[in-house]
Amino acid sequence: MPEGDSTCRAASALRTALVGRTVSRFESDRLMGPTIRPGTAVERIDTHGKDIEIVFDDGIVLYTHMRLTGAWHLYRPGQKWRKRRHQASVIIETDEWVAVAFKASEVETYRQFDQTRHPRAGGSGPDLHNTNADMHECASRLFHYDNRDATVAEALLDSRVMSGVGNVFRCEILWACGVHPWAKISSVPQSTCLDLVLTAAAQVRANMDSPVRITAPDVPGGLAVYGRNGQKCSRCGDVIRLTKMGESARLLYWCPGCQVGCEPYPERDDSDPIARATDSHPAGSMFVGDMLRSRAAS
Ligand SMILES: [Zn+2]
Repeated sequence: MPEGDSTCRAASALRTALVGRTVSRFESDRLMGPTIRPGTAVERIDTHGKDIEIVFDDGIVLYTHMRLTGAWHLYRPGQKWRKRRHQASVIIETDEWVAVAFKASEVETYRQFDQTRHPRAGGSGPDLHNTNADMHECASRLFHYDNRDATVAEALLDSRVMSGVGNVFRCEILWACGVHPWAKISSVPQSTCLDLVLTAAAQVRANMDSPVRITAPDVPGGLAVYGRNGQKCSRCGDVIRLTKMGESARLLYWCPGCQVGCEPYPERDDSDPIARATDSHPAGSMFVGDMLRSRAAS
C-alpha cells in the first residue's frame, strides 16, 4: 500500500474488522518490543502518514510501516491467503477476521504512556504536515517543555510539542542535528530547539508523498541511523547503536560518535574512563558503560 490514501483505506478496513474485537492469536516472527497477548482487545487504529498504529486495550501499541511492497490484508478464518505465509510480518487473528501484514518494513511494539497517570494538558502542537504550521510555536513548546527532567528524545515524540514526528523521524532528526538523545530538555538551548523543529518539518514534509522514507539521501536505504545499528555512521564512522529508551521502551537508533550536542554531563574526558564510569547520572553511566564495552571489544 504505497500511497498515503491507501494507508487510510487499509486503516479504515482494519478498524471495521478489528476495533472492539479480542485477539485470539498474535504472531510476528520479527517483532521488537512487548508481544500482544491473546485476550487483548483492539481499542483504536491510528494513522500518521504511512504508519499504522494499532492500539490494544492493555496500552501496547503495534506500529507498522510499509514500504513499496508491504500491505495489510484481511481474511476470514480459514480463507486462502493471496500471499505466502513466510512473507507475513504480523498476524492478528480474531473470531471473525485475520489481519495479516505482509512484508512490513518496520514492526515494533511499545507501551503507550498511561494518560491517566500523565494527563496531557495543553492539547496538540502544530501538525508538521501542514505547511502553515508555526515553527516558532513548536520550538517554543519544545524549549518550555513542562517535564524538565524529560530527555530531548522523549519530548520530540510528544504530540503536545508538534504532531507528525514518529519514532523513525525522531531518530533521524536527532542525528541530523547532532544532538545527544539523552540530553535533558532543560539543557537544550532555544536555537537548538528551533533547529530540531525545522529539521523535523523538512523531513516530515519531504516524505509526505513518498512511499519510501528518505532523510539521508547519501546513505544506502535513505536513513542515517534508523535500522542501521551495528553499521558505520556516514558522518563520523563510529558504530550506530540501538538502545531501548524511556517508559515506552521505544527503540532508539543513534550514533555516539557525532551526536554529542547537549550531552547529559558537563564534559567528555576520555583520558579517565574509571572516573567517568563512577558518574552517578544514570544516562551518563549507561553511555560510559557502552563506551567501555566498545573499547574492550575493539
Ligand atoms: Zn556519527
